[in-house]
Amino acid sequence: MKYVSTRARTEEAREYTSAEVIKRGLAPDGGLFVPTSIPQLTPERLDAIAEMSYPARAAAVLGLFLTDYTSGELLHAAEEAYGAERFETVLTAGTPAPVHTVGQTEVLELWHGPTSAFKDMALQIMPRLLSLALEKTGETRDALILVATSGDTGKAALAGYADVPRVKIQVFYPANGVSRIQKKQMATQTGENVNVTAIRGNFDDAQNGVKRIFSDPEVASALDGRGVFLSSANSINWGRLVPQIVYYVSAYCDLVRAGRVKRGEPIDVTVPTGNFGNIFACCLAKRMGLPIGRMLCASNQNNVLTDFINTGVYDRRRTFYQTVSPSMDILISSNLERLLWLVAGPERCRTYMEQLAKNGFYRVDEDVHAAIRQEFSAYFCDEALTRATVRKYYETYQYLCDTHTAVALSAAEQHRSKSEDDKNPMLVASTASPYKFSPAVLEALGEEAPTDGFEALRALQKRTGVPAPERLLALEHLDDRFTQVIPPDEMKASVLAFG
Ligand SMILES: *Cc1c(COP(=O)(O)O)cnc(C)c1O
Repeated sequence: MKYVSTRARTEEAREYTSAEVIKRGLAPDGGLFVPTSIPQLTPERLDAIAEMSYPARAAAVLGLFLTDYTSGELLHAAEEAYGAERFETVLTAGTPAPVHTVGQTEVLELWHGPTSAFKDMALQIMPRLLSLALEKTGETRDALILVATSGDTGKAALAGYADVPRVKIQVFYPANGVSRIQKKQMATQTGENVNVTAIRGNFDDAQNGVKRIFSDPEVASALDGRGVFLSSANSINWGRLVPQIVYYVSAYCDLVRAGRVKRGEPIDVTVPTGNFGNIFACCLAKRMGLPIGRMLCASNQNNVLTDFINTGVYDRRRTFYQTVSPSMDILISSNLERLLWLVAGPERCRTYMEQLAKNGFYRVDEDVHAAIRQEFSAYFCDEALTRATVRKYYETYQYLCDTHTAVALSAAEQHRSKSEDDKNPMLVASTASPYKFSPAVLEALGEEAPTDGFEALRALQKRTGVPAPERLLALEHLDDRFTQVIPPDEMKASVLAFG
């Protein structure tokens, strides 16, 4: 399997191996890596996968795309990434990503990992794939991952990269821009290869600082002299996308095995969407032949994707809202570029991206819009409806969901109430533990939320009786390992001292 950049001109597109793609993250021309063909899951292959454990399913699916990795390597990586010591449901439900039936809906819970959010599903295995990629590409240097975070991604990346051979990770976060729980999660991170530093400034200061370091030749050459190169853990990295295909395949197998879906019967899928990574993984699963009917893109008040799918115009020139589902507060959904490449072809995809950069918007051609509408529907959910949905699912079904999942559950309901013809079973991706967003969830249930995150967590547990994740509860009493706070202009020195 070979990969090309979404921005490459067809006639001169350089081809990359999967290990190169994982090592590089972003293509040299600024485009995203895409596979030149899509491997097929025949019904027989799907039957065979259904008999396997989650790590074996992961190795089977990953192996179709990452053809320069051996099946032994992939299985070993998946067994480490998705073991019981990392995902509590491996012991109770036999899988890191269980499907829970709630009313008429099948809810795919993707948040039973170390940081209680869905990014663990990819970030637990991606560092192992990177470590292997260094060997496969003959890279003699080690990788230093730099991350600027407003909270959740930083912790998920730290948890994934901790103690992975030949990789170090340094995370910067705004000292006053993350919640107390998020700060505690990062400050207590274990691992010999990790470093965490707070910045006196906001998230943009941290992000701009990281960007400057990435493009600073002095940093590159100093690190190079020590046998180190800089790399990133962005959600546009193919190594994060391909593990996300696995849980859609796995969920389908589990639904068939449980008798809730007939073999070969299509299901619809709703995904709470920000950067379009998770839903694009679902789209790839569909194109591989997994029986998926319609994909529903669920957005919060930042509904740029809803408008795009409904009108064919992507327009980021709009108000940015801070919502109770902050991981979806995004106006530029980077992974959408991959869908455009698939649907519109390389030339038109490149034109749209140029128009977005230059004008802040683009309109796709009629046939592209029609093709997208053929597969995708889009709905959004404002703040009041998000809260009402959390409350409704708790009161009606005793199912406690987080705010991001509520956006998706609402989208699925909006779709159901609208369409007459589509009657496929509905799978909804649930992306965070309700305890990851305790204050917002408490408020949705009509309670006043304590300002302290740990108090809110205990209050939510007391109010609902739903057990909070042990790891979050235990955090409060752990000692901080990382306490340094620096001004943004010292970030470079900090990287040079650590790398
Ligand atoms: C990152 C995230 C999302 C959005 O996923 P994308 O792949 O960026 O579309 C949704 N919910 C939660 C809780 C997240 O952390």
